[in-house]
Amino acid sequence: MNLPIIAYGDKVLRKVGVTISKDYDGLEQLIEDMKETMYNAFGVGLAAPQIGRAIRLFIIDTTPFAEDDELNDDERAFLKTFQRVFINAQILEETGDEWTFNEGCLSIPDIREDVIRQDTVTIKYQDENFKEHKETLTGLAARVVQHEYDHIEGILFTDKVSSLKKRLLKKKLENISKGKIDVDYKMRFPNLKKK
Ligand SMILES: [Zn+2]
Repeated sequence: MNLPIIAYGDKVLRKVGVTISKDYDGLEQLIEDMKETMYNAFGVGLAAPQIGRAIRLFIIDTTPFAEDDELNDDERAFLKTFQRVFINAQILEETGDEWTFNEGCLSIPDIREDVIRQDTVTIKYQDENFKEHKETLTGLAARVVQHEYDHIEGILFTDKVSSLKKRLLKKKLENISKGKIDVDYKMRFPNLKKK
């Protein structure tokens, strides 16, 4: 089922996600629904708070980035295979040089901003079968993990821009929360005015 994506301004996007167990009600279906929702919106990642659940779950599929011919062959080959379900993730370490990438977010349509992050991340998590993993990622794969991980910590990429940029974005973000935006996937807006 294609779920509505929660727009900027909703409190659920600000909650720190709770740990879940194997017995979490309807987990398998939830993961399927999140995949459908992400692909329908042409996203490369989707976190559970974005569909209204403050739990430590996000999914990633960076396949679309594999087409980017500015990347080297190794990175493209890896991005093509980088499809994961992250449950109860914890970032253990962020290292490496800081770099800038122009980020966007399905909960914040039509806004893209340069965000600075470190280029390497080590993360431990459980997959959809609750098997434990520890993985070190770099470049764009790390970037997507960092962005989605922020969601389960209640953080949005627009928090990470300069205070000047924040002032410039304020009105646009208010409009998104009110549903004053054209978007071609299903969304739920916290401050939508009933007509
Ligand atoms: Zn996002």
